[in-house]
Amino acid sequence: MDMSLNAADEAFRQEVIEFLDAELTPELRRDGAKSASVFSEKELNLTWHKILYKKGWVAPSWPVEYGGTGWSVMQRYIWSSECAKRNAPNLSPMGLAMVGPCIMHFGTQEQKDFYLPRILAGEDYWCQGYSEPGSGSDLASLQCRAVRDGDDYVINGTKIWTTHGHYANRMFCLVRTNTDGKPQQGITFLLLEMDTPGIKVEPIITLAGDHEVNQVFFDDARVPATGVIGQENDGWTVAKLLLEFERGGSGMAPRARAILEEVKTMATTEADGDGGALIDNPDFLQKISALEMQIEAQQVSEFRIMSALSSGQNPGAVSSMIKCAGTELMQQVNELGIEAVQYYVAPFEPGYRQPGSNIDPSGPGYANVAVAEYLNNRASSIYGGSNEVQRNIMAKLVLGL
Ligand SMILES: Cc1cc2nc3c(=O)[nH]c(=O)nc-3n(C[C@H](O)[C@H](O)[C@H](O)COP(=O)(O)OP(=O)(O)OC[C@H]3O[C@@H](n4cnc5c(N)ncnc54)[C@H](O)[C@@H]3O)c2cc1C
Repeated sequence: MDMSLNAADEAFRQEVIEFLDAELTPELRRDGAKSASVFSEKELNLTWHKILYKKGWVAPSWPVEYGGTGWSVMQRYIWSSECAKRNAPNLSPMGLAMVGPCIMHFGTQEQKDFYLPRILAGEDYWCQGYSEPGSGSDLASLQCRAVRDGDDYVINGTKIWTTHGHYANRMFCLVRTNTDGKPQQGITFLLLEMDTPGIKVEPIITLAGDHEVNQVFFDDARVPATGVIGQENDGWTVAKLLLEFERGGSGMAPRARAILEEVKTMATTEADGDGGALIDNPDFLQKISALEMQIEAQQVSEFRIMSALSSGQNPGAVSSMIKCAGTELMQQVNELGIEAVQYYVAPFEPGYRQPGSNIDPSGPGYANVAVAEYLNNRASSIYGGSNEVQRNIMAKLVLGL
């Protein structure tokens, strides 16, 4: 695969750099740099979302007919790399990268006309209601019940680990509409509004001290049946497609590269314990080189997925491979960050990372972010389907074992 830039791509890169220099304000960069998660805070990611929407660049992976950019794989790579280098806030993937493509594939014309422009404009903020207590890896066992009553469903049950559920005004969820037959056959994919009476959102505070995930309770919540995507009881088909996008579409290589660059910068000021700077320590340099090679390999694999997407294909089971390799690579980069900051791992000061915060951390700010990033990323090999389960999928569907 030729990864060098031709003249047209280089011109595009310059256009991207000019745009980012003009529109990515110092405040956005500062708060983007403090984000320890793939989910930036809502106000932060929506501010950036709206700037990109105005420019027409908010949905690089969408087909042009729905408001996508029509960029080539290389242009999308250039875009994500230049954004990551400058700590641009991450956009929420729930609408643009997850439910949006499912509505395109399975939605009625009316649903496409209503939801897709709102996702593009950042008018709706989505959360994902898949997991339940006891139904994570074994998702098909989910119990949250939706009973048809006239034009509505009445929902009772609970969803857990709902990322940004406390911010979202809409949820895409999986509900049980039939208990006969195989568990997969009685699931329906349903869109609903979070301010529906009978829906309650309770916080779960993560290891890094952040309020990112929640448990959502449904108590006779009545929602319109017009929110069904695809057919009633055939939600598993929609759910599986969405998971392919969730696992394969996130562009981990540019992010890993950007974090590794930060680790290198930290190592120029951190001591090696032997009178020199850490960046000159041969053992440390060897670890950096090993990670740089892995990032290149991850990048090539991500190109393959992007190439499939841009020719109208779905990511397929290969997305499981990207997910495993990418999340484990990110965790290794985070571990090297922890090694670099040494004793500054100890202070626990999550307030520093809030957008607009005026709290000074005890040590260097980069150490605070490195620790939070490390803690937050422990979850990346669990969410989107744990890596053990992804390995089972690869064994079956990719290797045919
Ligand atoms: C930070 C975070 C954010 C999340 N956000 C969301 C969200 O927004 N929406 C949502 O719906 N869900 C979300 N999740 C839930 C996530 O998808 C589940 O945690 C995940 O699918 C694992 O399910 P579980 O937690 O029930 O673990 P379990 O399924 O109970 O698994 C426990 C352990 O057993 C292993 N295991 C289970 N089955 C097998 C098997 N067949 N073979 C080998 N090993 C196995 C797993 O790998 C894991 O190590 C989030 C999770 C986290 C941690």
